[in-house]
Amino acid sequence: MAKKQFKAESKRLLEMMINSIYTQKEIFLRELISNASDAIDKIYYKALTDDQLVFNKEDYYVKVTADKANRTLTITDTGLGMTQEDLENNLGIIAKSGSLAFKKDNEAKDGHNIIGQFGVGFYSAFMVADVVKVTSKALGSEEAYRWESTGADGYTIEPCEKDSVGTEIVLHIKPNTEDDQYDEYLEKYRLKSIIKKYSDFIRYPIKMDIQGQ
Ligand code: ADP
Ligand code: MG
Repeated sequence: MAKKQFKAESKRLLEMMINSIYTQKEIFLRELISNASDAIDKIYYKALTDDQLVFNKEDYYVKVTADKANRTLTITDTGLGMTQEDLENNLGIIAKSGSLAFKKDNEAKDGHNIIGQFGVGFYSAFMVADVVKVTSKALGSEEAYRWESTGADGYTIEPCEKDSVGTEIVLHIKPNTEDDQYDEYLEKYRLKSIIKKYSDFIRYPIKMDIQGQ
């Protein structure tokens, strides 16, 4: 008999995933910093094989910016960036990992440090944010695109302006509720300690820019 493929109620699945696979909300920052580091690693590997591309270590970093007044937390990287198609494939298909694909494609080069493989870490951002905006410009591309989503409802992608190659992820931090506090993800000491706890091993500098603190 012909085997049938399971279909999935992707909206419900995403909601379930966001709310149940992670036990602690704070790990969203680890996931986003890991992705940023992976994106820089990818530029680094490209530079190994492309003479036109020079990798100056000081140009590559991750930056975490908190703006209390606007309730935004921004994670910026100077990594490989994403094309419109990458945004569609990597952030629009649940459990699709561009990093796993990259690792497979580049198997010959050993010693890579790319962390991603499951293709779900990014969505942990929705544990603490009600809107996520990803602005990205891919290496070798003239155009930049913005992916925007409020979570399980879906996403939009539109062209936008961005000067430099890399990715900027803006999280609009949820308001506090009686049960859950989110303000802490805009506090310098709290962000510092989360970074120390989970991202100490990241090989690129993690800069912090916290307004008014
Ligand atoms: P994983 O890291 O396990 O692959 P994620 O859900 O964390 O899964 O991310 C999905 C994919 O989105 C990544 O594999 C990568 O291709 C892409 N991506 C996410 N964040 C970035 C970023 N900052 N720069 C470039 N690509 C990214
Ligand atoms: Mg990841």
